[in-house]
Amino acid sequence: MSNGSVNSQTILVVGGGIAGVSAAVEAAESGYEVVLLENAPTLGGRVAKLNRYFPKLCHPTCGLEINFQRIKKLKNLKIFTMSSVAQVAGEKGNFTVSVKTTPRYVKANCTACGACAQAAESDVANAFNYNLDTVKAAYLPHEMAFPMRYVIDPSVIGTPEADKIKAACSYDAVDLDEVESTFDINVGAIIWATGWRPYDPAKITPYSYGESPDIITNVEMERLAAHDGPTHGKILRPSNGEAPKKVALIQCAGSRDYNHLPYCSRICCLGSLKHAAYIREQYAESEVDIYYIDIRAHDKLESFHVKLKADPQVSFRKSKPASIEVGDDGGPIVKGEDTITREVYARPYDLVVLATGMEPSNAQDRAPVTIEQDEYGFMVPHQGDKDGMISAGVASGPLDVSMSVQSATAAALKAIQAVSSNA
Ligand SMILES: Cc1cc2nc3c(=O)[nH]c(=O)nc-3n(C[C@H](O)[C@H](O)[C@H](O)COP(=O)(O)OP(=O)(O)OC[C@H]3O[C@@H](n4cnc5c(N)ncnc54)[C@H](O)[C@@H]3O)c2cc1C
Ligand code: SF4
Ligand code: SF4
Repeated sequence: MSNGSVNSQTILVVGGGIAGVSAAVEAAESGYEVVLLENAPTLGGRVAKLNRYFPKLCHPTCGLEINFQRIKKLKNLKIFTMSSVAQVAGEKGNFTVSVKTTPRYVKANCTACGACAQAAESDVANAFNYNLDTVKAAYLPHEMAFPMRYVIDPSVIGTPEADKIKAACSYDAVDLDEVESTFDINVGAIIWATGWRPYDPAKITPYSYGESPDIITNVEMERLAAHDGPTHGKILRPSNGEAPKKVALIQCAGSRDYNHLPYCSRICCLGSLKHAAYIREQYAESEVDIYYIDIRAHDKLESFHVKLKADPQVSFRKSKPASIEVGDDGGPIVKGEDTITREVYARPYDLVVLATGMEPSNAQDRAPVTIEQDEYGFMVPHQGDKDGMISAGVASGPLDVSMSVQSATAAALKAIQAVSSNA
């Protein structure tokens, strides 16, 4: 890409989740040149991986598809997937951004016919399903992927399997010679919408994640419940494929804890209430215990909490479990003390779901910029008028989808103000 198509009036958005897509579309619809970078092969971020999302419990494709239709009408919005920022130099109104793109090995003329996947022999971990299953080494990231374009896993490049994959494509869409590339763009403002990642449950050692397949995380639960997930939407015990009868949902797993994430992630209480609803919808006889410090169901979503409290099969147990152990039968046992009844308990479950919190996706690997970040790596929002750098969505702090979209709209306005002052 040459520098000629973008300039100091151009707005760069980094991260193509719901926040980044919203900010990019809002700025482009206002007439500005916008470049959107996403380091995954598709747009949508973590929202695309949800089964359904509150407040209305719609399928995530509803909200995303509306944005994708808007994108298709925008000639002044350029999108680069599998691309990220390597370096930023300059200042508000005149940034030079070095963009790094990793190879997809599939060109834009891919028709998503799937012949390459049929020719592929190797299986690779399925990142879309949080590695709960595998896909072929030539794969479509998910059924609603945008762009609707296959990817070839780098592990097969240089092998006879890659040649077989290429030969299977009747459209000459496979390019095995693609290499990592970098190019520079000149932009006037940058919106960072790099989002979040789940806190690593293996760090919470008393909770034995990885020691029993029946101890999973909240994001994995979203995929188990999704029709395009590893169990086609049926919530089953990973250990034996049976329906779980007793399920424990553990709130604040690693959150509000100075050994892990000291802050509240704001969304995971509602996430677990949603998971209780998923389980109760599928299994009329099931029992769900929610272990909590306090339930934080913000704004109008309190009604969701009230509805679940009325279900006699759902119990709210005020306790932060001390440990989760693996019993002789391989199933998890939740241990602790109830802070209301003072009962010391050790209860066996078929499935335990850890409500792990959200940490900024750049928590370890800080963004290559001077934008102010707090002690946890969240980027301090709305400095657009000052330095041309703005954050949006969960990159700026734990938010739900509607709050992320609101912050994205605000970020688009700040970016417009930043580049307009250069006019
Ligand atoms: C278990 C759980 C359930 C939830 N359920 C709901 C719900 O029902 N309703 C609701 O409103 N909210 C829900 N949320 C919250 C919701 O997931 C977030 O509000 C939403 O993901 C925020 O979107 P985002 O665009 O800010 O971040 P993300 O979804 O994380 O998107 C960020 C994007 O940026 C990309 N990226 C990251 N770094 C770079 C980089 N350096 N360069 C280029 N691209 C980059 C990522 O690949 C990603 O695509 C839930 C959260 C959890 C933990
Ligand atoms: S790369 Fe070729 S074979 Fe694979 S889905 Fe695209 S068009 Fe079909
Ligand atoms: S939202 Fe709930 S589960 Fe998540 S950190 Fe806050 S109190 Fe804990």
